[in-house]
Amino acid sequence: MDSLPLLADHPYASFLDQVEKPARYAGGEVGSVVKDWASVEARVCLAFPDVYDIGMSHLGFKILYKLLNDDPRTLAERCYTPWVDMEAQLVKRGLPLVSLESARPLRDFDVVGFSLQFELTYSNILTMLHLGGVPLRAADRGEDDPIVIAGGPTATHPEPIAPFLDAIVIGDGEEKATEVALAWARLKREGVPRRERLVAIARLGAVYVPSLYATRLDPDTGFEVVNRPLASGIPFPIERALVDLNKYPFPDESPTGGPEAIFDRMSIEIARGCTEGCRFCQAGMIYRPVRERDPEQIVDTVMRAVQRSGQDEVSLTALSTADVSCISPLIKKVTERLTAERISLGVSSLRAYGLEPDLLDELKRVRATGLTFAPEAGSQRMRDVVNKNVTEEQLLETAERVFSRGWGKMKLYFMIGLPTETDEDVRGIVETGARAAGAGRRAAGKGKPVDVTVSVSTHVPKPHTPFQWAAMDTLGEVGRKQRLLKDTVRPYRAVTLKTHEAHASVLEGIFARGDRPLADVLERAWRHGARFDSWEDKLDLAVWEEAFTHVGVDREKYLGTLPVTARLPWDHIDVGLEEGFLAKEYRKALQSRLSPPCGKVAGMFVHHTNLDDAKADARRLVCYDCGVACDMTQMREERLTFLDRLGAHRRSLPVLTDAGAAPPVAAAGPSGAPASDGGAERASVGGAERESVAATAATEPKSGDDGEPSRAEGEAPHRARRIAPAPKGRGGFRYRFRFEKAGPMALLGHLDVVRELPRVLRRVGAPMTYTAGFHPKPDMTFSPALSLGVISLDEYVDLRLERDLDPAALDALVAAMSAASPRGLVFSGAVKLGPEDPSLSKLIAGARYALAFARSAIGGDAEALLAARCSAALSAASLPIRREIDRLAKMVDVRQYLVRAEVGGPEVHAALARAGLVGDLVALEVEVDIRGSGAVKSSEVAAVITGEPGEAPGAITPPPHRAVRLQLFGRTSPAGSAAGERFSLFDLERARRVKPAPERTAALPLAADAE
Ligand code: SF4
Repeated sequence: MDSLPLLADHPYASFLDQVEKPARYAGGEVGSVVKDWASVEARVCLAFPDVYDIGMSHLGFKILYKLLNDDPRTLAERCYTPWVDMEAQLVKRGLPLVSLESARPLRDFDVVGFSLQFELTYSNILTMLHLGGVPLRAADRGEDDPIVIAGGPTATHPEPIAPFLDAIVIGDGEEKATEVALAWARLKREGVPRRERLVAIARLGAVYVPSLYATRLDPDTGFEVVNRPLASGIPFPIERALVDLNKYPFPDESPTGGPEAIFDRMSIEIARGCTEGCRFCQAGMIYRPVRERDPEQIVDTVMRAVQRSGQDEVSLTALSTADVSCISPLIKKVTERLTAERISLGVSSLRAYGLEPDLLDELKRVRATGLTFAPEAGSQRMRDVVNKNVTEEQLLETAERVFSRGWGKMKLYFMIGLPTETDEDVRGIVETGARAAGAGRRAAGKGKPVDVTVSVSTHVPKPHTPFQWAAMDTLGEVGRKQRLLKDTVRPYRAVTLKTHEAHASVLEGIFARGDRPLADVLERAWRHGARFDSWEDKLDLAVWEEAFTHVGVDREKYLGTLPVTARLPWDHIDVGLEEGFLAKEYRKALQSRLSPPCGKVAGMFVHHTNLDDAKADARRLVCYDCGVACDMTQMREERLTFLDRLGAHRRSLPVLTDAGAAPPVAAAGPSGAPASDGGAERASVGGAERESVAATAATEPKSGDDGEPSRAEGEAPHRARRIAPAPKGRGGFRYRFRFEKAGPMALLGHLDVVRELPRVLRRVGAPMTYTAGFHPKPDMTFSPALSLGVISLDEYVDLRLERDLDPAALDALVAAMSAASPRGLVFSGAVKLGPEDPSLSKLIAGARYALAFARSAIGGDAEALLAARCSAALSAASLPIRREIDRLAKMVDVRQYLVRAEVGGPEVHAALARAGLVGDLVALEVEVDIRGSGAVKSSEVAAVITGEPGEAPGAITPPPHRAVRLQLFGRTSPAGSAAGERFSLFDLERARRVKPAPERTAALPLAADAE
């Protein structure tokens, strides 16, 4: 049953708290931009075909969001795929999918732009179009429908999704996004018919409009291939767009403050493209040439991003970060600047060779978990086939270095199903892991734990790579190889084997090399329930089986070896590679011949890290004439300039030598790792997909080492962090802040709020102090957690700031914090605490709630009815209710906590109005105890008072209502005795006189019991 709406005027307001993570749909994050629709020429909805938590980490989205919103002529809003529970709600209620910023349906925008990251998200595109009120197929769209465009890595082989898209941007999206949006909106205003508009868009270049090209059946393969253009003046083939990255600095701000994204850090793209030439890696081929951002610009962006986002972790990302020419001096420069800010630095995609001991030392200082590397193949022969320039010796040396520094775990990523693979290569995967474990055991010393996890995924041949013609292993063959791996690993106790479900990879393989007829399969599968196919627990194979059979598509033709001479379904897309380059690389692969990295000095696998060496080395840079025509002279000069700008002049400049002062470098792993494992990061930049490995940040047990209660109720998920010299005792100055949590913030989980507070303080330049210990964290304690959907007008947090603030400065800080917070988080006061002031957990004795009901939901004389129910509840000896936490049920006697219950008067109704609850409401005012041993939820109180008499405790359902925490307070007498006077938690005089009840030595209830 629906609750009272939390968000005024939002179409989902009445049922948001009935879905998982409702804040995914509420918007209002810091940095989100709501522009006036009438003030712009073109309105773009950036649509991400996966759930909010995934999409919020997508770098390409951030780039386009900022670009389009910075331009006064355009606006951009965001929309993510609704999770299945939300989709069901929308369908049931006949409501459209709307954008986060202005809650408008997708059909209202001029442009709906999808990000194509991964073939298994295609069904989500159909969901979003359907729910957004846009006809699924381009051919069915009318004059007033938006143009549906897409970009990203799978846009380079788009035929299976092409019939659903009006236009596809090939290559970098920075210039094209604005150009297409403005042109489309202008032509529409001028009354140009839709087809002519599409022709005009196609003529812009780097834009493929599928409906304007004819297809034919290729006799060699049976593929439907794009044959010729159907309009004059449109390109064939369609060349990609390539931008100068330094003209488009990476955005220093993007929406933040909503539910936690999968990669919850400020990721900064430092380069696009890659020189390593791994033959399975599509991103390494389609984003050539490598383009490095100006390091001075990077440093500036990092510093501004930290200030604007308030985040405490920055990540420098590229397809292979370690191969960016100035990476060592750049890390040093960035760490120098971040030291004072207590910001940790993550570096994704380090390689398994040349990992400097200094860097490992630094990593060890910030990480409790292991490191991750991707050798990709289990034998030297196979590594040569895939052109992975790493030897087993280098890998074992890295293992020694890792385990000798005290790590107990190391993770290695491999693939099976690579061209020419034999059973010996497959067994070699486990044996490589075992040798790494052996090297690690020797290095770690006797009795030290050593665990090497070998994670093995299935190779999917991708278009525009040298392996595009190679066969993909059948399901049966994958199963056989996985069994072989399991048999091989049995004797090795130090090796943990992880294999991946292969059906999803096969489906990915079909759609990667697919042609247009697959669109019918996709639509059929979607209509029968295919959703979130990249989520292992959501992939419904039966639905796909039925769709292939029904449409009559032979899957095998997409999975077998393809003739090198055949025309392929993606040959009309020109990603810049010379015809013949990929075939030559394929032939070299079949002969197990390496192609050392291009763009580097011949014979070198790493770049010079200082100007002296770089200048002195006159050797040529390696080039294979792949077709993208790098300007080698400019490349060399640019690198010298970058080293010069970073001050890396002298020889042997050490990396991270300033170990005592440097902030952490917190993630590692080479590029190219499969992303289906939780440890792999799949990020994208300007449409570029990249897979970079980032080990998970360490977490830490809750502490109560200083005699204070555990901060379990108030701790954010910890990030690996710089290990500053441990302060003696707790430094800084202690304050108590009061805040309100309403609107979208009431839909945000407690841990998300806890995570957000230090960021708010960083945004306003009021740094917190950190706890002592091995993993310092912001020193703060929150009042008890609220259930999702409960509004509060009286929340508290005790925290320590570095600065001593007088009352006026504190008032100014409070105002600044509200201005720098997500919508619905409002700070309303602060007091300075002395050492004698008890903590929140020792003070809080109870809470007052308003429980608001729509009068119609109560019926009759609502006030009289509720008054009678209150009397009955207060006269009852017990009010049992069943509570379930993590599927464990327990009975709670609400009566033990209920102190007062009565019909609310004008003061309560005024508070409801302040909380944004309006309408014909009737309210209860209830007061409950909060004890160290437990508490009751407002929903439980509402249930026992308003539930039907005689209902079983497990079945009591209150009428739809909304709870507002009106006040948290202390008592002058111990909790449980209603005789004590209530006092405000800002009333420090009285707080100091309170002797806590004996039971109050325990911590306040945890989130699950809270309120
Ligand atoms: S043109 Fe040469 S240096 Fe540039 S990406 Fe191609 S092979 Fe590498």
